[in-house]
Amino acid sequence: MAADPRRAVPRTDTVLDDPRLAGYPRERARDFARAELDRVRRGELAAGDVVEAVARRFRLSRVVINATGVVLHTNLGRAALSAAAIDAIMAAAGYTDVELDLATGRRARRGRDALDALAGAVAEAGAVHLLNNGAAALVLAATGLAAGREIVVSRGELVEIGDGFRLPDLLASTGARLREVGTTNRTALADYERALGPQTGFILKVHPSNFYQRGFVSSVPVAALAGLGVPLVVDIGSGLLRPDPLLPDEPDAATVLRAGADLVTSSGDKLLGGPQAGLLLGRADLVETLRRHPLARALRVDKLTLAAFAATLLGPETPTWRALRADPQELRRRVTALQREAGGAGEVVDTVAVVGGGGAPEVELPSVALALPAGLAQPLRLGEPAVVGRVERDRLLLDLRCVPEESDKAVALAIRQCS
Ligand SMILES: *Cc1c(COP(=O)(O)O)cnc(C)c1O
Repeated sequence: MAADPRRAVPRTDTVLDDPRLAGYPRERARDFARAELDRVRRGELAAGDVVEAVARRFRLSRVVINATGVVLHTNLGRAALSAAAIDAIMAAAGYTDVELDLATGRRARRGRDALDALAGAVAEAGAVHLLNNGAAALVLAATGLAAGREIVVSRGELVEIGDGFRLPDLLASTGARLREVGTTNRTALADYERALGPQTGFILKVHPSNFYQRGFVSSVPVAALAGLGVPLVVDIGSGLLRPDPLLPDEPDAATVLRAGADLVTSSGDKLLGGPQAGLLLGRADLVETLRRHPLARALRVDKLTLAAFAATLLGPETPTWRALRADPQELRRRVTALQREAGGAGEVVDTVAVVGGGGAPEVELPSVALALPAGLAQPLRLGEPAVVGRVERDRLLLDLRCVPEESDKAVALAIRQCS
């Protein structure tokens, strides 16, 4: 006699507590689970497939557990947003007051909460603006301040940022001409001075964020370039707003502006730990010129990004901040527990995690991982949720530095299912 299928229907909370759904927004998962459980009651779905079916409804963008040990992994979407930023995105997703002053009923400056938060965080900036990404901030600066004219830049700072994209090509695409000065390893103040003239749009200083040079090298500090009578734009890339003692070699917007930069550009989804965005901070007249440039409209940030950005700056510490500061002792405890939970699989090993996302290439973060056979890499990537580690010397390393602790159980389950 067939069992009554209704008896097999799991409780909604049991479905939601399944580790495979860790990381998905719980209330949305609850709606999905209710609908899938109805299908079980109608006999259209096996009870054992409910969790998979709920996860599939989210799959347009799939939750990935980042066990690579790379904090800002560009292929995994760089910074993981804080819970506060995620909530803000949900709240802004419907109609919202992104460009409306509810007190007067009039049009207001777009995204003022985000802009106020940024201006509040960097008092050294006369004005601030937000764009689609760091590259957009550079493109707007080049177009608005140097199209048809020259950007003076050191040959040591002509950076390829990734996926074959090169900053010199990006800048040249705006119609500005690059006036390269100095050499790959050494550039002096006199090199810049000789290149300046009526054709100069601005001097650009780029932080070589994804590589570093050692040996017979020298470059000119921001303060020395600031007094040359032409605008100085500094691309700091990483997005630190203020100095971070953990990353002493990373430039930050406040310090660079205090040293005399006229404009600073950076990314929102690197060390800042927020959504993809580009930041422009600096002299009010320049920011206003760029903000009113026709191209600015094409680089505009959407309401979800603005909401997430404001919440990131106002909210508690970001997952990026926490991952950078994870304590190796604590990671060892978690990896050991993970190994036990996964049925004793693998070996607990010391590893080195990195910042990633084209930032702080010289910084090594001592970390701990579970080492497994490399053959598990693909099945774990294809699991639910996907677990992505890194393969090193024929072993798969699952580094917990960037894994939120509440996802440890999901990782253990994934390993058990693949072993
Ligand atoms: C990352 C980076 C960029 C590009 O920023 P996106 O936000 O990725 O567009 C530009 N310049 C530097 C120095 C960078 O590190």
